[in-house]
Parts: sequence; C-alpha cells; structure tokens
Amino acid sequence: MKQLLPLLAFLAGLAMLSAQNAPLPIICGNEIFSHIVQEKYPELDAAFRATFEEAARQSHAVTQRSPLHVNVVVHVVWNDPAENLADSIILNQIQILNADYNRMNADTGNLRAYFQDVAGSADIHFELAEIVRVQTNALFEVDVLGGDLLSALKSDATGGSNAWDTEHYLNIWICKIQPTTIFGLTIGQTLGIAFPPNGLDHWPEGVSAPTAEQDGVVIDFRAVGSNNPNTIEVAGGTGNLTIKGRTSVHEVGHYLGLRHIWGDGGFLGPNDCAQSDGVDDTPFASAQSSFDCEVTKNSCEQVEAFYNDDPLDLVENFMDYSQESCMNMFTKGQAALMRSVLMGPRAGLLDPVSIRQPVLVLDSRIFPNPAQDRAMLSLQLPETADVQIRIISPAGHVVLEMPAQPFSSGQQQIAIDTQVLPVGIYFVHIQANEKTQQ
Ligand SMILES: [Zn+2]
Repeated sequence: MKQLLPLLAFLAGLAMLSAQNAPLPIICGNEIFSHIVQEKYPELDAAFRATFEEAARQSHAVTQRSPLHVNVVVHVVWNDPAENLADSIILNQIQILNADYNRMNADTGNLRAYFQDVAGSADIHFELAEIVRVQTNALFEVDVLGGDLLSALKSDATGGSNAWDTEHYLNIWICKIQPTTIFGLTIGQTLGIAFPPNGLDHWPEGVSAPTAEQDGVVIDFRAVGSNNPNTIEVAGGTGNLTIKGRTSVHEVGHYLGLRHIWGDGGFLGPNDCAQSDGVDDTPFASAQSSFDCEVTKNSCEQVEAFYNDDPLDLVENFMDYSQESCMNMFTKGQAALMRSVLMGPRAGLLDPVSIRQPVLVLDSRIFPNPAQDRAMLSLQLPETADVQIRIISPAGHVVLEMPAQPFSSGQQQIAIDTQVLPVGIYFVHIQANEKTQQ
C-alpha cells in the first residue's frame, strides 16, 4: 500500500490541474517527468541542488570562454502530411536556437532595463547535420502512469526513428504529441519534452533518459519554428498560441541541465517561494507564467542575495511558461551552467563528426564591397553541397550565422543581409559540406 500513496497523490494533483485549467492546459513534459521522478526518488531535490552546485563550481573554473558547437539531427516523424514540416521550418528553428543561445535574437531590447545586465550569451552554436524523415501510422502519447515519455517515437521498430549516436548528436524528434490522458481523461497538451543530462554523479538513477537511445528532445510539430503554418490553441480556447520557436529553446535548456525558473514548485509540488532552480541570478517565483507576459508580477516578495533587492519575476526567461513573444533571454548563470554541462557530461556533442566531408570552394566573390544593406556572395562548387555562411567580427565573434543551405555545382549566388551589422570590417567564413552519407 505504501507504494500506492505517492501515485494517488500524483493523480489528485493532476485532477486539480485539469479542473483549474480546463480544457487543455499546455505543459512541458519535463514538468510531468520531474514530478514522476520526485515521487519515485524522494532524494531528488537534494540531488538536483548538489548537481547545480557542482555545475556552478565547474563553470567558475572555466577561464577560457570559446564558442561551443553542437551537432544536431532532426527527426521528422509524420503521419498526417501537415506534420511533415518543410526544410525551411527546420532551418528556421535552428536559426532561432542560434540566435537565442547567443543573445542575437531581435527582441533582446524588450527585456526590462532592470534585468539587462543579467542577460547572458551562452556562445553555444547548433549545427544541423541531417534531417531524417519517417512516415508512420503510429500515434505518440505520453504514458503518465507508466512513466514512459514517448519511447516509441525513438525506435524504428515502433513506428518512430532511431536516434543517431546520442553521445555525439543532439537528437530532436518532431511529431504530433497526442494530448496527455489518464484513464481516458485529457489532462493536457505537451509541447515538448527533454531529458536532463546523463552521467552526473549527483543525480539519482532515473532522472536522465532511461536508455541512451532515448536521450534528446521531442517537440510537437506545431511548436517548431516561427514560420510554421500549423496552429495550436491556448488553454481555455481563447485563440492560438503565438509560436516563435521558443519551445525548442526551452527544451534544449532542460537537455543542457536547466530547470524551470520557478523551481518546479507550482505544478504538483508546493506552490511557494522556497523552490530554487539552482541558479543564483534567476529571481525566485512561486509558480510558472500562464502563457502571458505579466511584467509587474512579483510572486515572491523577498530580498534576494544576488540582487540585494526584491526583484520582480523574470518572465522574459526562456525557462518560464510565458508567451513566446515575451521570452527573450537566458541569464548569465543559466548560460554558465549550460556551458558547464556541455563541457562535462555532454562533451561528446562537441566532437567533430566525420560523416560530412568538406568540399573545396573553387571560387568566391563578394559584391558590392563595401555593402550598404545587402551583399551578394557568389560561390563556385565542384559538386552539390550544403553551405554554411558565418560573418565574423575582427575580434573573432560570430556576428551573423545563416542557416546551412544546399548549393548546386557550378556558380551560384546568395544574398547576405548586412543591414543588421554595425559599420565595420568583417570576415566571411564559408563552409561547404558534401551531403551526409548514412
Ligand atoms: Zn520545461
């Protein structure tokens, strides 16, 4: 009987959630998962804290800050043709990840002045290695009672798509995530799911992916990119969610070790100000935002050590549940923690992968030069290849990164939007890779 008690408490919490937010609350799968694990592993909270303390300690030890490049494979597992997202949407999503993780997003200016100094760039760059497409008849639903987070999606044998080596690739699966149900009762719609990193000493068994093959991120097809024609309704049926590709930014944050900014106290756990996300410069919040943008909210009225002040809730943070058009930042503490995780348990993602061979660029010209609003880059390639273009400042920083795009052999031109660049001299880094061979 003792075994049943946590489960009953869990169910009671879910029923409450359903009543409060009927008919369709939108949730992040990590929230469900962390509560499942909390029920199974009472020591989890202490373990989380220990992990973040260790990660923070490691991040302080890193003196040399260099760009970190992560290899990414996107699996599009589709049933209805609308779920088979076009390449342009996937590439747009990768571009959004690269903007948001490097504080190059266009809406950084929307952050309230009080928090501008706290915002940080993680200098983490995502490089798309391949888009894998699988047509399926399978339907994918989170099994809350069984504690199964879409494992079928991650296996060819069950209508999904096998992961690429999860040590070396961030696998992102895109599919239609069915509404979450318990005993036939719909309790919510999950937009995304991610597992925190594996192999940290202080994490209890069960908090990371159940198997290496399941490690990665899942995103509902309607929540990918900012140019996605598919829509998803706000809880309560008051209209459609504004989608700007930030579900992926949020889930990759979990994958790189971040917790929700309110410390996961507001869903099934205690809804109070004692729950920490383990990061000093994220203000305490008693609960998550409700897909809104309440910039005057102060859910925990207390002076915090980092600020020596009582800060308002940081609703612009990617790890809240605010409107995607409201989110625009990670804090420096969050950026340091993700970099620490990426140089620790997820360091394999930074290894160069050998399957994409560079292609020699036969000729390249830029005109006009200097350019005002737009420059044209003319390339000549000996064979068809994917071309990645980065604009580098004299100090060596990537100031503009265009999504990789296919070029045919021979001479071809591409426009570079230089309006966004301050006046100056820049280097154009051109990387051409042959199509991936599997
Ligand atoms: Zn989440």
